[in-house]
Amino acid sequence: MYWREVVASLYAWDLLDEGLDHILDFLEAETLTNSTYLVALMHDEKRPLTDFYYPHNPRRKVYWTEDSRAYWTPRPESYERSRIKPRLSDNAELQGRDWLQELIDGSRRRGMTVGAELSHTWVDKERTRGELLDCVQRDIYGEPFDQQICFNNPDVRAYGIALYVDLATHYDIDFIMTCVRGFNPGRTHPWASSSADDVQRLTGITLGGCFCDHCRQTAEKRGINWNAMVDRLRWIADGYDRYNARQAFELNLLWNSSATPTALLAEIPELYAFLKFRTDSLTEFFGQIYQAVKKAKPTIDIRLNHYATFPELMGLDLKGIAQFMDSVRSSDYSEQTGDPKRMEWKRRYLHNVRRTIGVDKYFLSAISPRPKATPELVKQGILVSAQCGADALTIGHYDGSWLNCLRAIKTGLEEAGIEIRRDVPVHGGNR
Ligand SMILES: [Zn+2]
Repeated sequence: MYWREVVASLYAWDLLDEGLDHILDFLEAETLTNSTYLVALMHDEKRPLTDFYYPHNPRRKVYWTEDSRAYWTPRPESYERSRIKPRLSDNAELQGRDWLQELIDGSRRRGMTVGAELSHTWVDKERTRGELLDCVQRDIYGEPFDQQICFNNPDVRAYGIALYVDLATHYDIDFIMTCVRGFNPGRTHPWASSSADDVQRLTGITLGGCFCDHCRQTAEKRGINWNAMVDRLRWIADGYDRYNARQAFELNLLWNSSATPTALLAEIPELYAFLKFRTDSLTEFFGQIYQAVKKAKPTIDIRLNHYATFPELMGLDLKGIAQFMDSVRSSDYSEQTGDPKRMEWKRRYLHNVRRTIGVDKYFLSAISPRPKATPELVKQGILVSAQCGADALTIGHYDGSWLNCLRAIKTGLEEAGIEIRRDVPVHGGNR
């Protein structure tokens, strides 16, 4: 079998701390990496994410990322029509260098493809709590969700389009990927699924987003009776407060009953209307991005980094959005749980991605070489990915990976009989 790529993600501070050539030397030799991307707009997070300390960073044990900063050089003209601008780093060590350009130059020298990721959050909390508060999603009581911007807000749409077009226009990149957080999912429940959990997840969306004025206007334009829908959802939401005695009684009775999610959707069409309103909104947003970016650079690959266990709860309908994606990366990192039983979950997750995007769309499957992964699980992740019709492998993520698990990538590919060859066609070449 042939896969086109092994793709590795890097952060600006990885390049600063370890040196780009050192990283690429290792990744090329030990993992057959032939494609890289910079997490170019990165959310607030501790690195490494899944372990206490970095396994191979020579300069620090941990790094506290700044909130939603851009590590390229945004061109002002790209944001002329956008009220929201990308925010740059305040870290003196990272300022004044264009990390995306450095990664592009270093990767191109080796004949690698290269891309940029716009990660989970696109605007920092300082601004969403202040000057950009009006761009933030609202709950059913009108309260803002911290940092979660609304995709029906025209300023957010203009900003999203500007980010993509800026990157596509000013950088020699092959793909732009995003895993931006969609609508607030409300009160979520454990992923381990029982019928009661499923019902609770469904009622929980009434505490999610978004109920802002832009959403109301968008919904009414689509013919939704917004007031009636919100009234019905509000009754459910009120039940989460036990001092709303009647609503809380009804909600508790529901959760303790044998009712199923499908029964609930049939009984309360307003729930389905809200789910569909949100998925239509996100699909439309990505459609607009796709159109604008392809106009700027027809050859660029627009990629979704698909990470949610319950994408529909944040308004993401993978089948709808896939119309506006050239490729999809599964972000399943089951290996890092250390639990071999999770590998069957991975298989089902990958089957679901392939099922929704169709057999011909370019599909990259991630494996995690991070704690508590083992070389055995990494190899198994590669095999499962191959069995689920993946076209390429991606590594999540180099910075927190133990070297024994990174080395297992090359042997895992060999053992699964997978050869990495750039010259196989993107679509249908493996089948
Ligand atoms: Zn909204």
